[in-house]
Amino acid sequence: MAQHFLLSAASRTLSLRQIYKAGEDAAYQTFCEMRWSETNGEAVCPRCSNHETYKITTRRKFKCKACAHQFSVTSGTIFASRKMDFVDLLAAICIIVNGAKGVSMIQLSRDLDCQYKTAFVLAHKLREAMAQEVQTGEVLQGHVEIDGAYFGGHIRPENAKADRKDRRLKAHQTGKRRVVIAMRERTGRTLPVVGMSEAEGVALANENVCRMATMSADEASHWDELHMGWSVDRVNHSEIYSDHGKHTNMVESYFSRLRRMVTGQHHHVSPQYLYQYANHAAWLEDNRRFDNGELAHRLVSNAMDAPVSRNWKGYWQRAA
Ligand SMILES: [Zn+2]
Repeated sequence: MAQHFLLSAASRTLSLRQIYKAGEDAAYQTFCEMRWSETNGEAVCPRCSNHETYKITTRRKFKCKACAHQFSVTSGTIFASRKMDFVDLLAAICIIVNGAKGVSMIQLSRDLDCQYKTAFVLAHKLREAMAQEVQTGEVLQGHVEIDGAYFGGHIRPENAKADRKDRRLKAHQTGKRRVVIAMRERTGRTLPVVGMSEAEGVALANENVCRMATMSADEASHWDELHMGWSVDRVNHSEIYSDHGKHTNMVESYFSRLRRMVTGQHHHVSPQYLYQYANHAAWLEDNRRFDNGELAHRLVSNAMDAPVSRNWKGYWQRAA
């Protein structure tokens, strides 16, 4: 039997030992090479694109010879107000890409010996970096599966039966329940969107799926409208999961990863952050065939392209 990819030596090309052994200067160099890949790590002024700079080595800053702008390797990226050493940042990236079902913030803060809140903000910034690769704005092509799954809003049943309420009734729900609607190309990208109800899926398909595509969906009646726009395979899950190639297994495996991430690592997920986990799971799913060195490389590179986060910038100052 073929060995599972994650068990093979080929899936392991980066380790925490390597990162710490190589040290802070090497980690810094990695970030420079990712940020300025077209000049082999030589600084380029973010303001005027000039390649001539003075190096202020002691502070790891650069000053542009043309416009005198001062900047660092993380200026204008999600790591702009970074306080962590580069070596710890790289280690955090390694830990996060190694977690095939995500990593809890408690675990990350323990591994890095940093405060919970630091780990929380860092992990969310990295999810924004992943979103650069997931939410590209390009339409999905080929064979596209669509499905939805509900998260959050769980109401714990009362201990005694007499005290229990009917949790199916809207009046007894918390209002925190959201749906993740995912569209997944059989040979490529996964695109998740957070909404209030699965019926919003048809409108999302209209925006995000190419008209030439074939679609697959389950038997739920709100997918009937898809037939007006596409050729659609339907599969009735109460009878069969896969019928001669008619299935939604790809999108189901995305949801199973997201479900395990939410219940296994994060336990509770507020509606506000659900889209972050949805993007994280999509990124892991789409890149699942890469070794962990390549994953870390991609994530640093996404992070260097991701603009200063509006959501997380100054989070410390606000929440303190
Ligand atoms: Zn300049």
